[in-house]
Amino acid sequence: MVYYALEFTAELDGLTNLQPRGGCDDPNFTYYFKLKCENCGEISQKPTWLSLSEEVPLPNGRGTANLVQKCKLCKRDGTIQMIPGQGKPLTDIQGQSDLYTRLMIFDCRGFEPVEFSFTDGWMAESKNGETTFEMDLSEGEFCDYDEKSECPVGVSNLKSVFKVVKKSGDGARAVYR
Ligand SMILES: [Zn+2]
Repeated sequence: MVYYALEFTAELDGLTNLQPRGGCDDPNFTYYFKLKCENCGEISQKPTWLSLSEEVPLPNGRGTANLVQKCKLCKRDGTIQMIPGQGKPLTDIQGQSDLYTRLMIFDCRGFEPVEFSFTDGWMAESKNGETTFEMDLSEGEFCDYDEKSECPVGVSNLKSVFKVVKKSGDGARAVYR
């Protein structure tokens, strides 16, 4: 197994705390990305999707995972288990400095996650915390107007990366870095 941390950053204008609508562990937030087979190197043509609320039985019948998929080319099974509790919203200060925040950890067997797609289901707050904006980031950006602060707000320059991390500790005290 390999642990991959999904991390992201963006430029936030007049906004802060960019995150999934129900928080970083939103059970219904859907992650879209492609899978690279560790056995033959094939990259899936279409993005696959998974969420914390979706669990499927493992091929060996022992437990469940958030994704079980077969490589189209070599037919090997791969599984992905999501590990919540590790994400933090992106602040405007991080975004300004091009610093990434962590969204989710994926425990991957047989596949490497690649090419995360930003889609619907995001939100951010105005800097004074008075207004919440729900947004779809499929187009790679978001623009609106904050009536209370009387200023335009926006999200742009979205970037994401999957980073291999190591686990230390166990249970609720596990750390991934
Ligand atoms: Zn394969």
